[in-house]
Amino acid sequence: MESIRIAENIVQMTQEGQLMPTCLTALTGPDGLLLVDTGQRVGEEELRTAVANLGFEVPAFIINTHASLGNVGGNGAFGASPTILAHRGTRELMRGDSHLLAELPSEALPDIEIDGPMTLHFNGEEIRIVPMPGSHTPTDMIVHFVHAGVACVGDIYPGRFFPFSGLGGKAYEFPRVLREVAELLPAGTKLLYGHQPGPGSVDDFAEIIEMAEETIPSIRAGVEAGKDRQTLLDEGLPERWKHLDRPGASARGWIFYLFNDLSAPQPEQPSVLRPLYEAWKKDGTGEAIAAKFESLVAEGLDVDPAYERDLLRLGYWLLREQASPADAVAVFTLWGERYPESWNAFDSLAEGYVGLGKKELAIANYRKSLELNPDNENGKTELGKLGVEV
Ligand SMILES: [Zn+2]
Repeated sequence: MESIRIAENIVQMTQEGQLMPTCLTALTGPDGLLLVDTGQRVGEEELRTAVANLGFEVPAFIINTHASLGNVGGNGAFGASPTILAHRGTRELMRGDSHLLAELPSEALPDIEIDGPMTLHFNGEEIRIVPMPGSHTPTDMIVHFVHAGVACVGDIYPGRFFPFSGLGGKAYEFPRVLREVAELLPAGTKLLYGHQPGPGSVDDFAEIIEMAEETIPSIRAGVEAGKDRQTLLDEGLPERWKHLDRPGASARGWIFYLFNDLSAPQPEQPSVLRPLYEAWKKDGTGEAIAAKFESLVAEGLDVDPAYERDLLRLGYWLLREQASPADAVAVFTLWGERYPESWNAFDSLAEGYVGLGKKELAIANYRKSLELNPDNENGKTELGKLGVEV
């Protein structure tokens, strides 16, 4: 991990990620080590190395700025001994479906959950921890090192790009929360952001607040006029905000979150993720997942379109994180059988066959996917890579 010294006793450490880096913070001193956020589960080893490079074996405290998987993923890297502190609701979210496939150990769960501001005295520093929930997630907090004049704001301000929401956060709350944070912190406080290395200041907020206050009313007006999500995505945002666009934090994402948050609440979608995951846990094969799905259907489960999302998640988890294309193919095959009109099922199945080195089957399934959806650009690109002209 790259590190930057922010103050005499504060170091920012940056973990590279698929779409964007994640920034963690360490406060060091005679009392020990305090970490703000722990990054991705897959980064546990490099986190332990980074902590060792700071001269420590385990942190005394871990504070999570919020419950996102990319921020709490390494909470269990040091076993049970660190005291983990987070906003109320973090434990529940970490035990929910959003975090299920990360397979976090119970030691990763916060020991202390707070509802209101608190102060921690550690290493001679006065650490103000202030819940500021609502925009990025319902669990956001800022961690203010008062003497050093440094504050971690997590993903309340992830960096100089379009903000994003998850786990029940509402994108339209960003301007309100950013203003509250700016009011709370003394002038000149150095800010540390969730996904952009290097210190910033509350002056950075102005641009995002302006963007949000211009675009929220226009998306709201679109929603109220009955426009659907695709129409709003196609309309896009004014050209002047283009520089805030980047992978994982795009204008499209911003429209997407706002559309969902401003539309009438949808009924909660049914999920079979947990029973299917538990079937995998028992014997570790994709066939077990497929068999469990079939047995649920035999017991009367409706083949609801919502379950496609669960099959997609499990299949890609097997393909990428478990590095097991054969098991992914078993799940994607079931998906295609149960949802024969789903172009995405056959596109995914083809990707599984690419992983298995079964070129002919990959080609056949990409073709099938393109028959169902001639606009599937990924399918065209992948067929091209397999030497097939489309
Ligand atoms: Zn986050």
